[in-house]
Amino acid sequence: MSKPLAPCSKCKGEMSMKILDTFHGDSGGVKLTIHEMPYVGCAEGHKRFVHVEFAGQLMDLMMDKGTYQSVPSAEKKGFFTHTYHCSGCKLELPRASTASKTLEVIAELNKAQPLKVLVEIPVFKCGGCGKECIQSTEETAMLAVKGIGHAYRSIDIHPT
Ligand SMILES: [Zn+2]
Ligand SMILES: [Zn+2]
Repeated sequence: MSKPLAPCSKCKGEMSMKILDTFHGDSGGVKLTIHEMPYVGCAEGHKRFVHVEFAGQLMDLMMDKGTYQSVPSAEKKGFFTHTYHCSGCKLELPRASTASKTLEVIAELNKAQPLKVLVEIPVFKCGGCGKECIQSTEETAMLAVKGIGHAYRSIDIHPT
């Protein structure tokens, strides 16, 4: 037997486990769609995360460079003004993104059923060899974390 869920902090209503269909967030061209996220909700539609660490764990996963390892990262050159170069042939990449790639991330977080996050990332195709790179894994990770924050706010979900 699992212990009963604490009542809603806003209306004191009874809470139950629910699954959100999809919701979205984006930041700086990185777009996230979160599918089937488990949460705890009341009849009034107030939402909280399934446990206190859940929100941070999902953000940590978005922050993890390993999440983006399937897409090559460009080489950044310059100090004050940056240019991005193909990791294959070293040619400078176009300034504007040429396409986007969608990564499917399965998040298996502590004590919660797995959910799926689709991360759409702008990619830059090399005019020389045709390889597609993201500009920077670190910046992509930062934008994805901000995007997750926006997604949480869009559905008004809280840790308690
Ligand atoms: Zn409530
Ligand atoms: Zn190239």
